Amino acid sequence: SNKVAAGVRTKGILVVISGPSGVGKGTVCSMLRQTAPELVYSVSATTRSPRAGETEGVNYFFKTREQFQQLIDNEEMLEWAEYVGNFYGTPRKFVEETLESGKDVILEIEVQGALKVKQKFPEGIFIFLMPPSLSELQKRLVTRGTDSEELIKSRLSVARDEIKLLEHYNYAVVNDRVESACDKIRAIITAEHCRRERL
Ligand code: 5GP
Repeated sequence: SNKVAAGVRTKGILVVISGPSGVGKGTVCSMLRQTAPELVYSVSATTRSPRAGETEGVNYFFKTREQFQQLIDNEEMLEWAEYVGNFYGTPRKFVEETLESGKDVILEIEVQGALKVKQKFPEGIFIFLMPPSLSELQKRLVTRGTDSEELIKSRLSVARDEIKLLEHYNYAVVNDRVESACDKIRAIITAEHCRRERL
């Protein structure tokens, strides 16, 4: 956790990693999760069905639409967004308590949600993960093989609009290689700690 020399505990930094779907946010964040255990990952809620190999409470909290709506109504979501027909959202309490305890929190979310978080946490750091190019992004979505042709078309058209949102972010990280993207993200977080350091 974050302590200054005098031993005063400071709040953690909220790190939002966003960018077009298929850019490799999930891969980059799971590699970060393995290599930077001091960062705490916020597990999102979603109404989409689990993919093969996904675990409840690790990848997502899987919810019905009714359960998800209840979470929104109870103001338990820091942000939520609809993305290609499903709902995704960040549980608020976990994020607030973890930051309060002095640990940094990573949110891996799509761009509409990231903009909403920026309104509530302007002091957060917003990192835009970029594909090397749109054709590279298309290739990745196809080789991932989890989506139909229709869904890929729809994800790509969303991606074209999403890339225009770069201006709202503090940092851009091109995801050409997962390891180097992770190195850059860790460097950004280290720099932010130095920038905020107080006696
Ligand atoms: P997938 O279905 O591929 O796991 O995720 C689809 C998109 O939803 C990805 O861009 C992912 O980053 C985003 N996402 C995951 N969790 C959240 C969340 O809690 N809030 C928002 N706004 N987007 C999320």
